[in-house]
Amino acid sequence: MLCLTCRRVRPALSVADYTAARARLITRHGLCLCAPPVPANVTRGT
Ligand SMILES: [Zn+2]
Repeated sequence: MLCLTCRRVRPALSVADYTAARARLITRHGLCLCAPPVPANVTRGT
């Protein structure tokens, strides 16, 4: 759940991730602002 780079809470990926415990972590540690890992080979329709 925590970002390994900035040690903050990573953005939720699904609605199930929006929990009270997670919200509490965000208030304590803050929200991760790192860019999400994007695959370099994102090609569509090829
Ligand atoms: Zn981060």
